[in-house]
Amino acid sequence: MGFEELGVAEWLVGACKELGMRKPTPVQQACVPQILKGKNVLGMAETGSGKTAAFALPILHKLAEVPYGIFALVLTPTRELAFQICDQFKALGSGMHLRCAVVVGGMDMTTQAQVLMQRPHVVVATPGRIKQHLLHDPDIAAAFSKTKFLVLDEADRLLDVGFEDELRVVLSSISSKRQTLLFSATMTGDLKALHELFGGDAFFYQA
Ligand code: AMP
Repeated sequence: MGFEELGVAEWLVGACKELGMRKPTPVQQACVPQILKGKNVLGMAETGSGKTAAFALPILHKLAEVPYGIFALVLTPTRELAFQICDQFKALGSGMHLRCAVVVGGMDMTTQAQVLMQRPHVVVATPGRIKQHLLHDPDIAAAFSKTKFLVLDEADRLLDVGFEDELRVVLSSISSKRQTLLFSATMTGDLKALHELFGGDAFFYQA
């Protein structure tokens, strides 16, 4: 299967090729069409499997059709991962005027709040820092009320670090009409509970 058959727009197929991605990885082949169909996804996928593009491609495809508001919120356990994910969104989204913001600890809150109020298309955040913004600024919480995609990247690690409280704050701020995409290297009981809470009915992918 080639990128053409995934169902994403031609400009995204071109971006993949320019980045040297010759064919979709298994997680991309399985998940991209389901996400385009509007399904929630629970995917078992390790770092290196191509899982970032598996969610970034369909999100960019849908964003290009309706480029309004904070379209997607991606939660990830570490700052380094947040920057890497934002870089992949920017590389794949180079064909549109994508605004992607990283919101992590150790950076100035006021500057971050200003960036969030400019409504970037994609926000990649660590749970602790986004919780602070959502709790302290109702305007920022309102900016997420119509967010179409919530991604939990490395969800098992998010749980290991004990981010349940932060995740609940996010859940209460963002629209219940969103699509939820949850990726994890392992499947634990806690993860199943989290998935019930976040996604409910979903396409399940395991390599
Ligand atoms: P990830 O699993 O998202 O951490 O991705 C690992 C690396 O694989 C990243 O550097 C991607 O740019 C690269 N990658 C993602 N999809 C593909 C693909 N279909 N073909 C080749 N490389 C890819």
